[in-house]
Amino acid sequence: MSKQRVVILGAGYAGLKTVKELQKKDLDIEIIIVNKNDYHYESTQLHEVAAGTEPADKICFNVEDVINKSKVKFVKDTVTKINKDERTVSLERTGDLSYDYLVVALGFVSETFGIPGVDEFSLPLVDIKTAELARKHLDTTLAGYQKSKDPQDLSIVVCGAGFTSIEYLGEITNRIPKLAAKWNFPKEQVKITCIEAMPKLLPMFSEKLGTYGIDILKKRGVTFKVGTPIKEIKDKTVVYEENGDLKEIKANTIIWTTGVKGSPVIGESGFDERRGRVMVEPDLTVAGYPEIFMIGDVCAVMDKDSGRPYPTTAQIALKQGDAVAENLSLTIKNQATKPFTFKSAGTVASIGNNVGMGNVKGKEVRGYIGSIMKKSIINKSLLEVGNASTLLKKGRFDYYR
Ligand code: FAD
Ligand code: NAD
Repeated sequence: MSKQRVVILGAGYAGLKTVKELQKKDLDIEIIIVNKNDYHYESTQLHEVAAGTEPADKICFNVEDVINKSKVKFVKDTVTKINKDERTVSLERTGDLSYDYLVVALGFVSETFGIPGVDEFSLPLVDIKTAELARKHLDTTLAGYQKSKDPQDLSIVVCGAGFTSIEYLGEITNRIPKLAAKWNFPKEQVKITCIEAMPKLLPMFSEKLGTYGIDILKKRGVTFKVGTPIKEIKDKTVVYEENGDLKEIKANTIIWTTGVKGSPVIGESGFDERRGRVMVEPDLTVAGYPEIFMIGDVCAVMDKDSGRPYPTTAQIALKQGDAVAENLSLTIKNQATKPFTFKSAGTVASIGNNVGMGNVKGKEVRGYIGSIMKKSIINKSLLEVGNASTLLKKGRFDYYR
């Protein structure tokens, strides 16, 4: 009899953590992981690549370098569809792949909310390709000012004020003075505007902590517009609503960070989803498909305390990887699966290289200590999906660049 086959889709935090835990278990199964690139990237650090404060290489490593190749086969391919009733997955280059058990961990894409012009005229930060594109665009535009003397070359709009935007703003406000010295543009004339739809900035933090972070960015020259939803992006122009009127800001760099949704493969495969996310069963399987587990940014898990789904984070994706490896092992041994439980360890956001802010285990952290916390958390995640050698190779003990 042939071995049972477990296929894992996606080598992000959720997929790779599942594989790393599953390969440790003493199971006589075939394990295949499929990913569109031969590398894993730490999506939690994409804002650094996009701002140019870290090279892409620092946050990427080869998937095959961290898996046990005697137990796991890696397939570099793009998933186009999950044929859930046939128990196969369609891959762009290599055709259909069958499975006995499937772990779907295809991650996130940019959320445009159908706002006109977003795809054409703004730059998202969702993977290495888009982050590098954003960096090149910012560099070229700022460098171009020397010749153009066009003030719009020095105007940057960041759309949305979630954590991705705040962390990106932290990085660019660190880097712009260096670029100004290199390309001889007047740094005091750089205009950075962050436009947020909601009436309050950083609502997940206490008033005091939120103000602390926002004030740092304001001092570095960022202007915040709050309660001003973006309605359209035109060529080099952001249209937003303020007090019922439509207004425009001209900018030659427009960064789109208004949130994320799950992979489009989920909807295209006919799952019952909302914004690319499936509300999973307590053991992380899909209702009616006990052989399919859905984890990371393609799933939604209800937080009983808040009555809302947990935010999609690397922290929860890693824990779900552990839980799915355990539940797969139980299922294969014909034992009952366990419900997934999660308690957030907190949240820390960076504001550039040496400031961090957030809550850890119920306590507020800020400043340099916050920054060390943030870098330690990121290194712990890297250790979980990579290994000690990855940390060393990437020079990740050298905290301050
Ligand atoms: P991903 O990390 O997106 O991995 C998905 C994988 O699937 C990728 O390797 C991708 O290449 C692959 N893939 C996608 N589509 C296909 C396809 N069709 N075929 C084959 N392969 C495919 N969370 C935190 O907890 N802490 C943080 O500090 C934090 N910082 C963040 C900073 C930024 C800038 C962003 C954007 C997010 C941040 N997050 C953070 C959220 C976190 O990055 C995500 O929640 C997390 O990456 C989700 O993990 P995942 O494994 O589900 O998806
Ligand atoms: P988000 O959804 O958290 O924030 C997006 C922001 O854009 C929101 O404040 C929203 O109100 C705003 N917005 C939406 N539509 C808008 C519009 N039309 N006009 C103006 N503003 C608009 O998204 P994100 O920041 O990309 O984060 C994605 C996920 O990754 C979240 O779960 C987040 O918690 C996580 N993340 C965590 C960290 C961290 O822990 N340090 C860092 C980055 C991201």
